[in-house]
Amino acid sequence: MRTPLVAANWKMNGSRAFAEQFFTALDLQGSGCEVVICPPYPYLPLVAEKAGAGFSTGAQSLSEESSGAYTGEVSADMLLDWSVRYAIVGHSERRSLYGESSALVARKFVAAKSAGLIPILCVGETLQEREEGRTLDVVAAQLQAVSEAAGDDVWSRAVIAYEPVWAIGTGKTATPEQAQQVHGFIREQLGETGAAVQILYGGSVKAANAEALFAQVDIDGALVGGASLDAEEFSRICHAA
Ligand code: PGA
Repeated sequence: MRTPLVAANWKMNGSRAFAEQFFTALDLQGSGCEVVICPPYPYLPLVAEKAGAGFSTGAQSLSEESSGAYTGEVSADMLLDWSVRYAIVGHSERRSLYGESSALVARKFVAAKSAGLIPILCVGETLQEREEGRTLDVVAAQLQAVSEAAGDDVWSRAVIAYEPVWAIGTGKTATPEQAQQVHGFIREQLGETGAAVQILYGGSVKAANAEALFAQVDIDGALVGGASLDAEEFSRICHAA
């Protein structure tokens, strides 16, 4: 009953020429899944122009503010102005490299949602937290920060991505069983609306491991970094979903 969703997070990679080539090679025909492409901000208009052909556009972040003196920031309304539908919030690189706290992530989630964007909320533990047996506590706290800020209807029209930090860009994927355990836990935490929420897995997803991950009951798709820069590989992941 949940449509599979595969999102590409290009991070700070690409160029106009790259994007043009990517869309020439992308083959989503018959994949049956929702696809979201999240390029760096300057390429959003280019991606939005190609969108409609089986995928939609997403931003990698957004401001928690709506307008004003916030140098370097981009608001939810500006994204909507370019037909962007999704925004990633709380990616572990934003949390660790740019000091985004769970409270700030929650404000960004609210800003996205109240403007009419669909937030893709990233949660996940570090290797140390996993080794200390704190994975579920960490994930629960990250979810709670958002649900406290966003109120009752928090998880309707929202997507969650479970991304163990130790699996991002490292080539180490959580095993399907490890991922399923956390996905099942996340769904429980979401309460009544949980059954309808798409929960994606992220962290070194490739065509070779996608199918086994997607076979798990609570894994509804993927947030793909490195492998989303190769249109053929990314297309194969979408077909696996
Ligand atoms: P990766 O990145 O697929 O390169 O591990 C995933 C992400 O950071 O969203």
